[in-house]
Amino acid sequence: MQKTIIIFFGPPGSGKGTQAELLAKKTDWQKISTGDLLRSEVAAKTKLGKLADKYLKTGKLVPDRFIVEMVDNSLKKKSSGFIFDGYPRNLKQLKDLLLMFKKRIKKSAPIYAIEIAVSDKEVKQRLGQRRMCACGKVYHLLYNSPINEGICDICGGKLFTRNDDKPKVISHRLKVYHHDGQAVLDYWRVLGKLIKINGEQPIAKIHNDIMEKLRELKVI
Ligand SMILES: [Zn+2]
Repeated sequence: MQKTIIIFFGPPGSGKGTQAELLAKKTDWQKISTGDLLRSEVAAKTKLGKLADKYLKTGKLVPDRFIVEMVDNSLKKKSSGFIFDGYPRNLKQLKDLLLMFKKRIKKSAPIYAIEIAVSDKEVKQRLGQRRMCACGKVYHLLYNSPINEGICDICGGKLFTRNDDKPKVISHRLKVYHHDGQAVLDYWRVLGKLIKINGEQPIAKIHNDIMEKLRELKVI
């Protein structure tokens, strides 16, 4: 069976996960997010999940071979297409994925990478203005602020900034994204398989732009 592969790429806070989800709903393609895969393995207490949990609990990076095993298992599933969200993010992961494709996906399968382009400045604003509550509610000081400053509308709890959203950490995440991701982007660009979408637009407009491009390329 012919399988379509779409790989979403973008900085933290670009909304690529949301766009991958929207595309998965429109098509019958399966979304593959390594974060989701890891969480479900851990929750199901599989052999791999138990091992991965040890890494996660000690804050260590889960080794690539675990990720490869999970992704490869997902690719075995029956689906007319796969949508990758947040993988591969570096050259090593790209090489791993290309090997898996060689094994599981026909050479002629349409493969495209979609870059959700958002400037560093915009990422810093989006993530830096995010506030959380212990109850799980997420606020944004510009787009979705609480009624009373610093207080959760739902439970009255005190809002806080997630460690990942602190300016220093955001700068570091962006640095890693650019440093590791450039080679991945270049790979798809050279092949003529890179679709660049302006990510600084409303969610529905970004989705429409993606659909239009995929129609133009006769992928859908
Ligand atoms: Zn709350």
